[in-house]
Amino acid sequence: MGSMEKIETRLFINGKFVESSDGKTFPIRSPTTREVIAEVSEASEKDTDAAVAAAKAAFPAWSALSPDERGAYMKKLAALLNQNYKELSQLEAVSMGRPVSTYFDNYAAASTFEHYAEAGYEAQGISSLNTPGFVNMTFKQPYGVVAAIIPWNLPLVFFGNKVAPAIAAGNTVVLKSSEKAPLTSAKVAALIEQAGFPPGVINVLSGHGQTSGAILSSHMDVRALSFTGSCRTGRIIQAAAAKSNLKNVILELGGKSPAIIFEDSNLENAVVETQSSIQFNSGQVCMANSRIYVQDTIADKFVELFKSKFAAISAGDPLDPATNHGPQADSAQWDTVQKYLAEGKKAGDVALGGKTEVSGLSEAASKGYFVEPTIFLSTPEDAVVMKEEIFGPVVNINTFKTEEEVIAKANDSEFGLYAAVYTKDINRAMRFAKVLEAGTVGVNCTSPTVAKDMPFGGFKSSGTGREGLGHSLNNFLETKTVLIKINS
Ligand code: NAD
Repeated sequence: MGSMEKIETRLFINGKFVESSDGKTFPIRSPTTREVIAEVSEASEKDTDAAVAAAKAAFPAWSALSPDERGAYMKKLAALLNQNYKELSQLEAVSMGRPVSTYFDNYAAASTFEHYAEAGYEAQGISSLNTPGFVNMTFKQPYGVVAAIIPWNLPLVFFGNKVAPAIAAGNTVVLKSSEKAPLTSAKVAALIEQAGFPPGVINVLSGHGQTSGAILSSHMDVRALSFTGSCRTGRIIQAAAAKSNLKNVILELGGKSPAIIFEDSNLENAVVETQSSIQFNSGQVCMANSRIYVQDTIADKFVELFKSKFAAISAGDPLDPATNHGPQADSAQWDTVQKYLAEGKKAGDVALGGKTEVSGLSEAASKGYFVEPTIFLSTPEDAVVMKEEIFGPVVNINTFKTEEEVIAKANDSEFGLYAAVYTKDINRAMRFAKVLEAGTVGVNCTSPTVAKDMPFGGFKSSGTGREGLGHSLNNFLETKTVLIKINS
């Protein structure tokens, strides 16, 4: 990483970088070295209000532009995001431990901005002659100021998923980054400035849930809010929206995704993909398959293969291109995972890992918050580790005999983000695709497999609303009915 002075840590309000109004900052510590790598401005109530006011002031002119004119700024930003891979990957590596070898978020965000640079024209209503004496139509109109609150695990993916459709639709935005990973969002603010966006169209705040997140959730001038994060925070935001101005809230929340492996599946593929799903980003992925159900006839073979793949990770300094397994994002995440490891050991059998320390780390990584890839077997379905999201490289593998049995187990969860089934029987695959209670079902594939143009979101407590190309624009558009009476 270059010199510390180069890291942008300020708030981006009305096209300008500013320190927080009360001078407060919070430290970002590397989860690998535990050293403080930046002191980041904490947005105060005054700063949050100023960002919303700036967005409100920018709205009339921004919404009056054609989609092409708005798109021109977005294309410039996309190009800058593509160009800044190195710095963005390094910032995420030092702030939340994401290995640079696995970083793609800037490219994902760039492609989202490129798409929405062209997609603004899809904001279209309908017309109707079905009421005698009338010509009726609907307008699709932006809300005005919208807020985006994002988590730390893939910050720029969510930055793109929320900000791009919101501004393409003509809204202006206040985004609050996560206190665990604010550096890439602050860097993107610098790119927004470089792209020449009019002041106030995109404002970027750093800070905790209290103060700025809570203020945005209950702000009377914020008319829509898109959130990705935990179920706990999602409920608080929904309640704050209900108590204030009933803003339109889109919630993308947590998961406890099941993957079901039948004896007729391609075992090698199933092992490789389910292992990668729970190991990527050190298990800190909403849709990671943290519950695997294997048909009893192939269970021993599956577990053996899974163990060897899961144990073969390369843990170390996330800045080292050879590393594919970074530390957990911070000490709090590490503590949480340790608590679950203790719970898991009480409930199930440890087949791999489970220890507090990770052996074989280099000197540079020896103080890191690493968690050993861990497998629990034969864990009772009602155990805490089967019910709650762990957000670590920890998987429960259980067995089943019949379809009915595994459907009941897979669906016995308050989460419903993603589910996977591996089988060569097309009829069985379709039965499962229909019955599994999840917003996305993978057949012979598992998370993080997604398709850009397919809606993504949760059943049950995993969220409300859907995101995706062709779907997100509507999250940021109001529908107005216009009734025109015709004189005969
Ligand atoms: P979190 O809920 O702790 O924090 C998310 C964001 O909400 C942060 O910016 C935080 O500052 C803010 N926040 C916290 N309290 C708030 C409050 N009272 N009011 C307003 N904002 C508040 O989640 P996290 O730990 O950052 O992220 C991990 C969670 O996100 C996991 O549960 C994961 O499953 C989920 N997630 C979901 C998806 C999805 O697409 N469904 C994707 C990634 C992560």
